[in-house]
Parts: sequence; C-alpha cells; structure tokens
Amino acid sequence: MRKNIVAGNWKMNKNLQEGVALATELKEIVSNPNCEVIIGTPFIHLATVSELLKDNVIKVSAENCADKASGAYTGEVSAEMVKSTGAEYCILGHSERRAYYGETYEILKEKVQLALANDLKPIFCIGEVKEEREAGKQNEVVKAQLEGSVFNLSAEDFGKIVLAYEPVWAIGTGLTATPEQAQEIHAYIRGLVAEKYGNEVADNCTILYGGSCNAKNAAGLFANPDIDGGLIGGASLKAEDFKAIIDAF
Ligand code: PEP
Repeated sequence: MRKNIVAGNWKMNKNLQEGVALATELKEIVSNPNCEVIIGTPFIHLATVSELLKDNVIKVSAENCADKASGAYTGEVSAEMVKSTGAEYCILGHSERRAYYGETYEILKEKVQLALANDLKPIFCIGEVKEEREAGKQNEVVKAQLEGSVFNLSAEDFGKIVLAYEPVWAIGTGLTATPEQAQEIHAYIRGLVAEKYGNEVADNCTILYGGSCNAKNAAGLFANPDIDGGLIGGASLKAEDFKAIIDAF
C-alpha cells in the first residue's frame, strides 16, 4: 500500500545555524510517527542536517536540483551532489520555481530523470493558478504538467515518485482548498496515473496536498481516501506546528 507522508518545504528560510536548531528540535519531538516525515531544506543545510538525522525517522529532501548532470554551470547543484549529502528526496516543479525561474515542462523532465538516475526520489509538484481554477481548467492543467514532465517515465521509475498537488492560489495565502475540492482533484490525478500506468501503480502512488495546510485543517484533508499527506511550507518552520500536522495521522 502507498505511504502517507508529511513533508516540509523550508524554501529560502533559516540560515545554517537556525536550520540545524530546527532539525534538532524535530529530532527530539518526532518519534514513532504514523507517516513518513521529510524535511526539505536549502542546499547548504543538506549535508549537516542529513548527518544530524542519520538513522532517524525524519528523512531529508532538497528543494531543487540542476537540469544538467555536471560541468560549467556556475552556481548550480546537481542531483549527484544532492545525493552525496545523504538526502533521499528532491522537491521538483514547485510553482515558485516554475513561476520565478522559468522551469518549463522540458526542464523539469530533465531534472526528474537526473534525480532518479542518482537514486533521489522526486516529490513532483503540480497545480493550477487562481485564474485557471476560476475558469474550471484545473484538471487540464495538472494533466498537462504530468504529461509534460513525468508520464514519459517507465512504470518502475514512476513508482519512485511522490506527487504533490499544490493549487498555487493556496500556497502561502492562508486560502486552503476545501477537503472536497482537494479530494476531487486528487482522485482525478490518481485516475490519470491509472490510465497511464494501471491500477496497481496508481494505488501505490502517494499524492500529497500542499497549500496553507496547518494543524487545524490537516486532519480534515488527510481523512480523504486520495489525500496521502501534505507538503507543508510556512507551518514547517516551527517544530511544534509541523509536529501537530504529523500528528494528524
Ligand atoms: C509550499 O510552498 O509547498 C506550500 C505548501 O506552502 P504553504 O504551506 O506555506 O502554503
């Protein structure tokens, strides 16, 4: 059966010392969770935090990786480098990267393949903007995002991916999709995976919800059959808040 996951995305927050302090606090208060727990940190934290959480239940993720394997790409960080820090996951396709750094379907396709080739598990984000939701186009948007970047994968490789549905209008805005809205589109996404890869792959695919998920609304969202946890931004920056979401399982 598929895994339930609560994953944090620290984004560009916390300097190294603050990040180590947060990871240390989480290490102390998270024990025997009823789901997999992941923290997504900036690149510079990865090696230190991975060492700190070695053999711990909390797993570590990058928030991005390069679309090239290696070479003259000043300032970039490759999937191989990420893997060498001890991180196990890599968030890819976050709407902020699509919007602010021009990440296209093609670029993301390369990133996903490089992450998988380096034994990193992608947490692949999809989701529509407000205007698309208002025009009722959310299903076609997520379909195109999947077709453009991950439906080229073999069933075996697709099986290593975690999907995160994150309506852009809900990210960092305090507006959350209702449990009904989220369940509806998660079921649609799982249906697309079933059409492409069959029922077994679809049943095993973890689909997270992201967008202003917090301690108050997490249980209502996670109670739905096709919502397998959350990708958490703001509420992952305080240990107690993040733990309360983990405890929703
Ligand atoms: C995110 O950035 O992935 C996210 C879900 O952010 P927030 O929880 O702050 O809306």
